[in-house]
Amino acid sequence: MFGRNNMNLNVLSLMEEKFHPKLISLYNLAKEKAADELMKIEQIVETNCLKVLGAFQNYGVREIHFHGSTGYGYDDYGREVLDNIYAEIFGAEAGLVRWQIMSGTHAIALALFGNLRPGDELIAATGLPYDTLHEVIGLRGSNTGSLKDWGIDFKAVPLQNGKVDIEGLVKSITPKTKMVSIQRSRGYAWRPSLSVEEIGQIIKEVKKINKDIICFVDNCYGEFTQIIEPPQVGADLVAGSLIKNPGGGIAPTGGYLVGKKKYIHGAANRLSAPGLGRKIGATLDINRLLYQGLFFAPSVVGEAMKSAVLAAYLGDLLGFVVSPAPGESRCDIVQAIELGSPERLIAFCQGVQKGSPIDSVVSPEPSDMPGYDTQIIMAAGAFIFGSSIEISCDGPLIPPYIAYLQGGVHVNYNQVALLSAFQEMYEKGLLFFPQ
Ligand SMILES: *Cc1c(COP(=O)(O)O)cnc(C)c1O
Repeated sequence: MFGRNNMNLNVLSLMEEKFHPKLISLYNLAKEKAADELMKIEQIVETNCLKVLGAFQNYGVREIHFHGSTGYGYDDYGREVLDNIYAEIFGAEAGLVRWQIMSGTHAIALALFGNLRPGDELIAATGLPYDTLHEVIGLRGSNTGSLKDWGIDFKAVPLQNGKVDIEGLVKSITPKTKMVSIQRSRGYAWRPSLSVEEIGQIIKEVKKINKDIICFVDNCYGEFTQIIEPPQVGADLVAGSLIKNPGGGIAPTGGYLVGKKKYIHGAANRLSAPGLGRKIGATLDINRLLYQGLFFAPSVVGEAMKSAVLAAYLGDLLGFVVSPAPGESRCDIVQAIELGSPERLIAFCQGVQKGSPIDSVVSPEPSDMPGYDTQIIMAAGAFIFGSSIEISCDGPLIPPYIAYLQGGVHVNYNQVALLSAFQEMYEKGLLFFPQ
């Protein structure tokens, strides 16, 4: 007992060495205020863990499934079972989980190019989609092989006060409309994430007009933040990244799609080649990591959500506008904090970097990024390069200078990154503690 008390004292003084005492006391207050929300997240984690464990058991996962294949990768049981486990967990008919899918954008592009044909029209229900998709659609660049180059039209129905304009969406549907896309997470936008229930509402209205319209969901950052997933409310096709939520911080690369069999086949034919589809693709030595990451994913997402909640409460106590606000529902792992000046945004990101396990000695600077049309500052001190299920923070250098903080595999580590961010602002004279 005595030794344990001693240790607690040491930990406290370590925190005090690093951070201003006022910052620590505000953080402790944030923890108290957030208690109910943190408990609700625990309940979500519990349910999702049971769901994941159930799928592993239903498919009788064994050590043999971790052995990868080489060459063509035919008859790779580990790969097939993982596809099926994803399908079960997400409540879909089929899955396509591959390290050969290079990012979330790639997974989404497979969904689009694999299922849209010349003359079709794609409608985005949630306003302009995530930045990296602009070139995919053909909003930027020319003769890049975009949807536009292939004769596929696009329109976006703008959000109204952060909500999907269902009436406007329904009106915009034409006989050419083949797919409606819905983005669950906020991305780099000051809008709320969509709940799976809200996604279901949109799908219901679209299907009333034409049941054959493919309802596609960009699920990036949304997985395991609730106890149901989009296919369970009628989404036909869903895509996401394995270096975000479902990879659990363990998957070293990859993406996934789940959905109706025919649409998964469309995406798989685009990934490999028509006729080869899902049947090909050596897994080398990666299967175990994808299984293990999925196994950890519900609890890792819970840690990330708890950290986002604490960031919201602390940011609010420090006088910043935050979204989601304390107490507001959240259906992704992203916490936006409006910092109001480029200096604060830069200092905040540099502080997150300083508080990260990897590359804590380097300092991020704003720069141009492929796929984005403004300068971005990104803090990423992760084991897996660019992983944003590990703690990371980024923001475009445009007013009102919003930091988007996400991820973190453990709340105790994440709190250091969060406190470092505010400490950095304080040390640069950019933060004043409320009286
Ligand atoms: C991250 C993200 C993407 C793109 O994923 P990348 O892996 O960065 O290519 C698309 N949509 C949303 C909402 C995202 O958060």
